[in-house]
Amino acid sequence: MAERMFCKKAATSVIGIHNSIAAPYHDSEPRANEFGRADKRLLCHKAWMSNHLPRHDDFHPVTNWVFDLDNTLYPRHTDLFSQIDQKMTSYVAELLRLPRDEARRLQKAYYRDHGTTMNGLIKEHGIDANDFLEKVHDIDYSWVKPDPALGAAIRALPGRKFIFTNGDVGHAERTATALGILDHFDEIFDILAADLMPKPAAETYDRFLSLHRIDSRDAVMFEDLPRNLAVPKTLGMRTVLIVPNNIDTVMSEDWEQIGDDGDHIDYVTDDLAGFLEHYLENAAAASQMKSGN
Ligand SMILES: [Mg+2]
Repeated sequence: MAERMFCKKAATSVIGIHNSIAAPYHDSEPRANEFGRADKRLLCHKAWMSNHLPRHDDFHPVTNWVFDLDNTLYPRHTDLFSQIDQKMTSYVAELLRLPRDEARRLQKAYYRDHGTTMNGLIKEHGIDANDFLEKVHDIDYSWVKPDPALGAAIRALPGRKFIFTNGDVGHAERTATALGILDHFDEIFDILAADLMPKPAAETYDRFLSLHRIDSRDAVMFEDLPRNLAVPKTLGMRTVLIVPNNIDTVMSEDWEQIGDDGDHIDYVTDDLAGFLEHYLENAAAASQMKSGN
């Protein structure tokens, strides 16, 4: 209750807060449909982020670092996914010979009801997954800018690093290459490895964890979609929600953010590199203190 009161107060006073990094997240502000209220909730997130930072022992003994790709490893305002989104609309329009607005409505309905547009198209129209993946990922990756700070932070993390995406390996590799961070990852787990069953299906997390022999209690997951963090939390993983770093560019399906106020989210950050850097600095300081230096 105290947290909720804090958030309500913070929502009206936090506009000037910058460089927020991360926070344990237990905000119980109810979800609202109006865009203005969504902004207010995001401001509340930012208030928490500026006041609580992860400590070294928060992630002890995490040795498996699991990152979603789109809108997580690059900021939402990069707008890379909007290109894929438009390609999906074109695919549906061509496949079913629909006007673009009708195709788009159907695309979003499949996404909502089947986890991905592709899954809906496979189930309802029997399309070829590889053909779909190739066509919708034929996009301009120059929109993604190198992120050396993120690369350095990921490289410095102790243990294994994974990309776990509902996209395909080719898209993940091209995106991570454009960011300059591909070499820092051990494995990419994509929608084909998931046997076309997208997150948040529980069996897909099980498949990922068992394939790579990951003990979920030693793992943390970074994601921009709250609903994709529910199963990981149940399995014992730490969870970090990535939110947009520019509140003016919050453009997402309203239902996508459902659950962003749940107990399954341990932390929320709008600055992934900053979050990791803060953790690493804390871990280094704790280890120095332990060794008595
Ligand atoms: Mg994502």
